[in-house]
Amino acid sequence: MWTDRPIERLTVRVYTVPTDRPEADGTLAWDATTLVLVEAGSGPATGLGWTYGPSATAALVREQLAPVVLGRDALDTAGAYEAMRRALRNAGRPGLGTYALSAVDLALWDLAARLLDVPLVGLLGGRPRPVEVYGSGGFTTYPDRVLERQLRGWVEGQGIPRVKIKIGESWGARPERDLERISVARSAIGPDAALYVDANGAFTAKRAIRLAAAFADDGVTWFEEPVSSDDPAALAAVRAAVAPDVAAGEYGDDARYFARLAPVVDCLQADATRCGGLTGFLRAAAVAEACGVPLSAHCSPHAHAHAAAARAAGVRHLEWFHDHVRVESLLFDGVLDPAGGTVVPGADGTPGHGLSLAERRAAPYLVDAWPPLRPDG
Ligand SMILES: [Mg+2]
Repeated sequence: MWTDRPIERLTVRVYTVPTDRPEADGTLAWDATTLVLVEAGSGPATGLGWTYGPSATAALVREQLAPVVLGRDALDTAGAYEAMRRALRNAGRPGLGTYALSAVDLALWDLAARLLDVPLVGLLGGRPRPVEVYGSGGFTTYPDRVLERQLRGWVEGQGIPRVKIKIGESWGARPERDLERISVARSAIGPDAALYVDANGAFTAKRAIRLAAAFADDGVTWFEEPVSSDDPAALAAVRAAVAPDVAAGEYGDDARYFARLAPVVDCLQADATRCGGLTGFLRAAAVAEACGVPLSAHCSPHAHAHAAAARAAGVRHLEWFHDHVRVESLLFDGVLDPAGGTVVPGADGTPGHGLSLAERRAAPYLVDAWPPLRPDG
């Protein structure tokens, strides 16, 4: 007979971690990263989920989502997902609404795996297997020597044969500087490592196409968001004209969004901390499969590792993003090791995603916290 394991408590905390140096891409600059952490508890088990977004996300979890999640069966991740989507209708589901939902969904998947005492990859229908990662950072604010040191750290230090840098400096107004930095990056990593670039939507289609022709000799194989992801026609135009794979999808929030974008990219991206947690990410993977393109996980590598391993051939790689690797290593124990260019989630048999909050290390970065929320009160 089925016995419910009710979700008895939800705890929300906000951590802000300053970056180790100023960071910017083509269209945004920042000096800190905020992680909104959700803990979902049932009996002695606690699941951890999170999103990267402003602290307003925490208010959405507490006010909009907790009332429809508390008291539900902890194994009913699909039911919780649907209830949360409905609850967010008038509050605004895309954007922060789905960021909040994502943090809760990730916590519930982790909780379910811990209740069943299996690594998350097992609950998702897979087993521990290597998942490729690529080093990601190369901010436009970095002096060349810092860029070189970071890229060599991944390629030579950790044996990760794929790296990505930001381009599109100053909203695409400095293409000569972009070309210079691409050339510095290629020299730093040698001829064999894969070099990716990400413009964060900085260019017009024409500018992106001209730039791709100019960097052809540097062997760039991935051109992410050459134009705004809000303009699928422009993405399609760039994709048809350039040699590297065109990738986009990091702002996607549901299956319909991914269904619109998948036909105009060579590789779809999805972010489980933004697109509806693991429930949303697995749906994005199904859309990518239906459209005949691979899926790559955007940022927050520890949020995606088990799902990527469970999808076997369906997920191309994880983004080993400098900021999030740093934040996740500071706040959590049990982080993965990307040595050799792959991680193997679940290999040590730890239940759930295998991470636990490192309370003492995390404490200096705590900026907001509330008492645990419980059913009916
Ligand atoms: Mg990107």
